[in-house]
Parts: sequence; C-alpha cells; structure tokens
Amino acid sequence: MSVKTIWHIEHACGHPADRDLSNRPADRRAGFAEWLATQECTDCWRAAKQDDEQERAAWLAAKRAEEQAESDAWSQQYEMPPLDGTERAVPWAVRCRHQLMTAAFTALVLEGETTEAQWEQIEDAARTVTRAGWWLDQRASDPEDLPELLQAATDADRSSENPFF
Ligand SMILES: [Zn+2]
Repeated sequence: MSVKTIWHIEHACGHPADRDLSNRPADRRAGFAEWLATQECTDCWRAAKQDDEQERAAWLAAKRAEEQAESDAWSQQYEMPPLDGTERAVPWAVRCRHQLMTAAFTALVLEGETTEAQWEQIEDAARTVTRAGWWLDQRASDPEDLPELLQAATDADRSSENPFF
C-alpha cells in the first residue's frame, strides 16, 4: 500500500480541509501534514492577508488626508494661492509646496544665514508660482536650492510672456 496523497487536516483556525500532498515526497507528507495543522486554512490565510491590505490602504488614506489638511491649513496661514492643475495634481502639489517651503525655511533661516526679510521675498516669489506641475517637479529638490528654483521659475514666466514663444 502506498502512502496516501490526500490528507485530512484540522487547521489551527478550526476549519478542516482535505489537502492533496501528492507533490511532496511520500516520506515528507506526514511531517508536512502536521505542520499544515498548525497553520490557518487557505481561506482564513487569504482573508487575513486581505484585511491587512485593507487596513494598510485605510491607514495610508488617513495619513494622506491628515497631511492634506495640514498643508491646506498652512497654505491659508501663509496666504499661498490655490494652484492650477488637474484635480489629481493639485492636492499633491499643495503638499509638495508645504513640505518644500517648510524644509527650506528650516535650512535657510533657522539653520542658515537667510534673514526673515529675505525669506519674505522668497515667500512672495513662491506665491507667484501657481502651476501645480512646477511644485511636483521640485519634490526631490534640495530645499536650500529653493530661491534659485523660484528665480528660474519666475524668469521662465517672464519669457513665456514673450509673444514669439
Ligand atoms: Zn480557516
């Protein structure tokens, strides 16, 4: 008589299952069946995994909403204008602007040589850049480069007023 291939497993979650162990060597089946019995059944395992994923997605969405609320509040407090762009790009760009501006303030004013008066000029320049795409493009930029980046953006704006371009 050969070693059986279908094993009846009582899983740890309480669900019974008949498992086909024919793809395991005959002398490993009993050990494997024993190990299987310490595990949840496939359905429970899948359900748990799905719960984890849903939980993670919900956590991410909540975190995102919290960041958005913070960025919106910051934009109002510092009188940063609404941005222009697609429905999808704008909220993201508002968060990027908030992050970059606060990081730049830390790097330039708190830890650097920039005066409050100079910083106000930087803020003024930032208020003129309302293209969501521009702020998204700067998300990997070094915050210390912000004045130079804004300078380039405002120069570009001026050249775009040139009727030949
Ligand atoms: Zn189960």
